[in-house]
Amino acid sequence: MSSHHTFADEPEHIGLLRETMRRFVEKEMPREKREEWDRNHTFPRDIFAKLAATGVCGLTISDEFGGQGPDIVGAVAVIEELCRGGPFMAGPFIHTAFYGGVNISENGSPEQKAALLPKLAKGEITFAYGLSEPDVGGDLASVRTTARMEDDGKTVVIKGSKRWCTGADFADFIYCLVRSGEPDARYKNLSFVLIPTDAAGLTMHPIDHMNLRYTLSSDVFFDDVRVPAENIVGGTDNWNRGWKMLAGPALDVEKIEITAVTFGIAQAAVEEAWVYSQEREQFGKPICAHQTVRHALVDARTKLQACRHMLYHGAWLAQEGRPCSVETSMAKLFVAETAVDVVLTCQKVMGAYGLSEGHDMQRHVRDIVGMPIVGGSSNMQRNNIANRLGLPA
Ligand SMILES: Cc1cc2nc3c(=O)[nH]c(=O)nc-3n(C[C@H](O)[C@H](O)[C@H](O)COP(=O)(O)OP(=O)(O)OC[C@H]3O[C@@H](n4cnc5c(N)ncnc54)[C@H](O)[C@@H]3O)c2cc1C
Repeated sequence: MSSHHTFADEPEHIGLLRETMRRFVEKEMPREKREEWDRNHTFPRDIFAKLAATGVCGLTISDEFGGQGPDIVGAVAVIEELCRGGPFMAGPFIHTAFYGGVNISENGSPEQKAALLPKLAKGEITFAYGLSEPDVGGDLASVRTTARMEDDGKTVVIKGSKRWCTGADFADFIYCLVRSGEPDARYKNLSFVLIPTDAAGLTMHPIDHMNLRYTLSSDVFFDDVRVPAENIVGGTDNWNRGWKMLAGPALDVEKIEITAVTFGIAQAAVEEAWVYSQEREQFGKPICAHQTVRHALVDARTKLQACRHMLYHGAWLAQEGRPCSVETSMAKLFVAETAVDVVLTCQKVMGAYGLSEGHDMQRHVRDIVGMPIVGGSSNMQRNNIANRLGLPA
């Protein structure tokens, strides 16, 4: 079935990456293990170390800092292939190569790049995203976690809390959006600070949830957490310049990365239902021979193909450094909404077995329904597209 998976003109090295990742998933991520990891909200650290040893975490990082990129298309292909085994390796890969590698490459100070990128490229350190708060979802400019300077500007003191901080339990740093001035200035008084997860005054508490259970998602509390001013992302010159980091090119890549997970999960669901429909017999023939089932599967594959084009077109634009805020929002919107439809169709094809243990489908369903919400909801993408295209409000 390989002709479904690659573009005719996909560079050879990406084909090789796909092969390596597929073998990795087959060998290291059997279904029984995936079920266990999902139940326990975790991923195996030793298997992630094996993944990192292949060098893939360096795909978003330039060779100057020990990487082999930036190669956004290659990194997206890695996410796609890893998602055949669910989110368990794609998740930590993203925390390292994207939350870490993309953001520090784009926004880090020279010292931060030199200190962090070589370690990120080797998969030795990982980041978590601290954006959402109890009262802050899509409206990120209204964050309330505060950061103030002390010790003549040498120390930053953080107070407040973040919600849904996925991977705070295993990450080394929280890439944290903070209010560094008066709230009424909205976009002008935001900064990013790197907060070590072992800092004094930082505590966390996991939030039970049904999707993307490769790790915990936690409430994180900062009770006057003190970090050196060198931890301000981009250095002290970038104090109060957080919004441009959030809304800049790194956000386009972030939309692409979450879209790649969405696509990868939908593809895994289609392939599971496709195989299952040939094995399950009812009324004297495989269910795939019943026309409505057959058509449902073909429609799912067709929609998946449209998703593939939007995803890789967005990735290519980002790789080329072209403006792509509209295209990446369209990809995030279209792929998330379409993937929910595709996965629910596949679940129906599998009947009761699409809802129960012994198959991946029930997990795909749980993972996919969150995709129109996380990483900027579908409505946020619609708002961005309308605004960027100048539609009067
Ligand atoms: C498993 C999981 C992991 C997560 N991981 C992280 C993480 O690591 N770091 C992090 O910072 N966050 C994380 N999140 C949070 C996620 O990013 C937020 O859920 C997302 O930003 C949406 O915020 P909200 O759920 O509070 O929805 P809200 O912003 O409250 O929106 C609720 C609904 O109202 C709609 N809406 C809101 N405003 C408008 C508007 N102006 N126009 C039209 N419609 C609107 C939305 O589209 C949505 O349908 C995670 C969430 C989950 C479930």
